[in-house]
Amino acid sequence: MTTWILLGSIVALALAFNLFWRKREQGRTETGRQELEELRAMGDIVPASIHPVIDPIRCIGSGACVYACPEKSVLTVVNGRGVLTNPLGCIGHGACAAACPVQAINLVFGTAKRGLELPHVDPDFQTNQPGVYIVGELGGMGLIRNAVSQGRQAADHVVAGQRRAAGDSLDALVVGAGPAGTSATLRLMEAGLRVLLLEREAFGGTITHYPRAKVVMTGFLDFPVYGRVSKRKMSKEQLVALWGDIREKTGLQVAVGELVEKIERADDGGWLVSSTGGVFKTANVLLALGRRGSPRKLDVPGEELSKVVYRVIEPDVFQDQHVLVVGGGNAAVESAFALLDGGKCASVTISYRKNNFARCRQPNRKRVAAEVEAGRLTALMGTQVEEIFEDRVTLRDASGEQSSVRNDALVIQIGGTAPTALLQDVGIEIVTKYGEA
Ligand SMILES: Cc1cc2nc3c(=O)[nH]c(=O)nc-3n(C[C@H](O)[C@H](O)[C@H](O)COP(=O)(O)OP(=O)(O)OC[C@H]3O[C@@H](n4cnc5c(N)ncnc54)[C@H](O)[C@@H]3O)c2cc1C
Ligand code: SF4
Repeated sequence: MTTWILLGSIVALALAFNLFWRKREQGRTETGRQELEELRAMGDIVPASIHPVIDPIRCIGSGACVYACPEKSVLTVVNGRGVLTNPLGCIGHGACAAACPVQAINLVFGTAKRGLELPHVDPDFQTNQPGVYIVGELGGMGLIRNAVSQGRQAADHVVAGQRRAAGDSLDALVVGAGPAGTSATLRLMEAGLRVLLLEREAFGGTITHYPRAKVVMTGFLDFPVYGRVSKRKMSKEQLVALWGDIREKTGLQVAVGELVEKIERADDGGWLVSSTGGVFKTANVLLALGRRGSPRKLDVPGEELSKVVYRVIEPDVFQDQHVLVVGGGNAAVESAFALLDGGKCASVTISYRKNNFARCRQPNRKRVAAEVEAGRLTALMGTQVEEIFEDRVTLRDASGEQSSVRNDALVIQIGGTAPTALLQDVGIEIVTKYGEA
């Protein structure tokens, strides 16, 4: 009798577990389906660097890739097959491909319809222009560890080479103070070369733009001068603190707030680099620009005011301010949400030249509608900024009517220009990859 009760309980438990499991998988499939629909609505999205392509014939729907991906919600199992449902969330770890039990995943650049432009570099990261190197994510390979390693390798090649400063010019100029540029600069410093590091935004690069408390998988990092960082998993804040420590302990100098706009060949075979801070003559240039590009501007009067920014990094700096976000894509609406969640702003308004947020992901569209309904967010649809003043912004709608909104800060998020434009001007060979390794 007791045995039968025990057996019955085990079967009941197994059935309950099976039911729970099926329900959970159904839920996930449904979410995945919705994400796929949204993805199709957004057109052909090209991930910024290397990303997985799943062979649907080989795939057995094990879900190993979904669980292995450290970014989460990038891949989903839909109808028993793994699918890349959030290409923009993929940062190219490749953990999915390594985890797949049937080798159904290939890591590629670009998509069959939309190519990804990548600079062509040799094994030492030198381009077809002598003395010009490209390292880090700009070359197509994402991840902090790759960037640190490539920066060091390219700098090793500069150190071993013959190109050196003439007169009072530089041996090397590094553009971009992310992981690649930081590592390259440290190696050049270590070798005693005359080096300058220019950065348009913040020391640390893309890591300073991660969401608060993001868990970052780095693997161990080998920095010249500073040494090995063995901690493989850190929060964003720990990583930013690490960059501060590197700067302090190594004495690395970085000129922040300098946007490099032009690179030209000098008469003696060196390079002239023009930034917002001046023109620098150098024997070698190491470009570690990442792939985020430069933010697109509105080109309206008043845009030069200090209250205008192109992204929200720390929402709390906008406390008690009337903030206007300009744009209608995911980046713009997510900035508005960050301000609503953590900004303690006096008001948050969004201005978009179109009449709906069709380019946004569905959860973002839903949240915009809910925030507007709740009166927390004001959406000025079909409007364009005309002029920016210290205390207000004037807007014009499609019918030509002008309005004015009270304003202390403006966040402009209307896309950007690819960093490849700067490279093409220098004559660097660019290759376009259409879903190829
Ligand atoms: C949300 C998110 C999460 C991520 N999570 C991880 C993770 O967990 N683990 C991981 O390994 N990687 C992660 N990555 C990827 C990683 O951040 C990048 O691969 C890495 O930062 C690339 O380093 P980089 O030095 O090549 O470029 P970046 O870090 O992008 O630095 C480039 C720098 O160049 C500057 N610059 C660009 N143009 C100019 C110019 N014209 N003049 C002057 N300066 C210029 C930029 O301002 C920037 O500071 C993540 C990326 C994102 C977006
Ligand atoms: S490449 Fe990395 S981020 Fe992209 S899906 Fe695979 S594990 Fe996730």
